Amino acid sequence: MSLLSPIACMMGRHEPKRSKVEWDGKNYSGHCRHCGKPIERVTHRNWREIPPEEVAQSE
Ligand SMILES: [Zn+2]
Repeated sequence: MSLLSPIACMMGRHEPKRSKVEWDGKNYSGHCRHCGKPIERVTHRNWREIPPEEVAQSE
């Protein structure tokens, strides 16, 4: 984990840590294995970063 996001992350292609993925009732969510940001699954193998305001609402 680092302050510098890998190229894939900067292009919006985050990948979850499989062991940490959770079902929150609406989406699968977890943290990116590369940059550590909170992400949620959009479609199969397609994840997006969760905006900070949404993270705040869900916790
Ligand atoms: Zn990432």
